[in-house]
Amino acid sequence: MTLIRLLGQAFAAMLLQGWAQAQIESVGIAGDGQHTRITIASPQALDSTIRLTETEGVLGLDWITPNLAVRADAYLAAPVGGISAYTLQEDRISFEMDRPMMVARLLDVPPRTDDGVFRYVIDLSEVSPARFRRQQQRDAVSQPASPPVEAHARLDITGDEGNVISSPSFKPAGLADPDRQPEPFVIVIDPGHGGRDPGASSVIGGEEKEIVLKAAAMLAEELAKEPRYEVRLTRSDDTYVEHEDRVTQAREWGADLFISLHADAAGAASVQGASVYTISTRGESRINGAANKYGWEIPIETGTSETVSGILEDLVRRETKSNSAIFAELLLPELASAGPLVRNSHRQGNLFVLLAPDVPAVLIEIGFLTNRGDARRLASRSGRQRTARAIKRAIDAYFDQQELRLASN
Ligand SMILES: [Zn+2]
Repeated sequence: MTLIRLLGQAFAAMLLQGWAQAQIESVGIAGDGQHTRITIASPQALDSTIRLTETEGVLGLDWITPNLAVRADAYLAAPVGGISAYTLQEDRISFEMDRPMMVARLLDVPPRTDDGVFRYVIDLSEVSPARFRRQQQRDAVSQPASPPVEAHARLDITGDEGNVISSPSFKPAGLADPDRQPEPFVIVIDPGHGGRDPGASSVIGGEEKEIVLKAAAMLAEELAKEPRYEVRLTRSDDTYVEHEDRVTQAREWGADLFISLHADAAGAASVQGASVYTISTRGESRINGAANKYGWEIPIETGTSETVSGILEDLVRRETKSNSAIFAELLLPELASAGPLVRNSHRQGNLFVLLAPDVPAVLIEIGFLTNRGDARRLASRSGRQRTARAIKRAIDAYFDQQELRLASN
């Protein structure tokens, strides 16, 4: 169904090119510069590309679509949230930034049945200058710069400082500085239980809270070998952290991925193996409730109608859920290579940590403490390392996919 829709949109976009103009109905901007959302609305399905720009030291982002036209009654928001000005041109909207920001997420929102408006959502996150430069140089290679645009086709929107953009003049991309590293992905590891909550008991002695803390430390150690990752732990000692605090903390750290580690217990000593959980269909209905209760709001531009906000939030939730599922799929074969694998019943209480509406999250039960084989594997350093390396391979594969997807957008 998705494939058909995508093909249909591409086909429609092709038909429109050449004889129709891409009408812009509104440009919305909202956010604080750490996270900023641009929403471009059009009555048509548009085929657009995005490229980061750096023109005479001024950072920017071009949203490119051919035959752009602005409706007379178009709503054009004042630039805010790190966007200092923008210009509507014949083939693009050029946003000027006062800080380095990168595309964190792109959403193409098809029209609701009754409004007929296509919305193109660009979510930006502030990044280091080095990471911006790296992506900008990739964009400069993959998408050639356009010639300067005629003045009569431009519409300048300026910020409070009144800084109008000068005519764009594209300078050739420089060579990448090999010493510069891109901004790392933030991975939050959540060792379950702790303090007054020991979790399950191991058949060979020890408690789940200690075992998962050691497993978390091992995973952190493996990930820390690569500058690509920044690792945070929701707890690093024997303290109890409330479920909602684990999620709130992860969101404050800007988590790209949340991994909760637990170990299982079963009545039968023969039951063994690791398992992976994402939020269940039942748990899904709790996402809204938890988000409202703990203030885990998805940033949506102010002035967006309630209905549209609802649609956008729903899209973010769906994308987060699908990313969680993608990561879980990558995890299973890797974990299978490190030890046995099992499917077992959910533990709804602990799954609370998977309720963030906008952070892909999984819960891994790394084995059964009631099974002698699993308990020994998890008690040994080499066993923990096998599991940690398996999880890391899945993390590597996940972010490889994410990077490819962002680069192709
Ligand atoms: Zn547990």
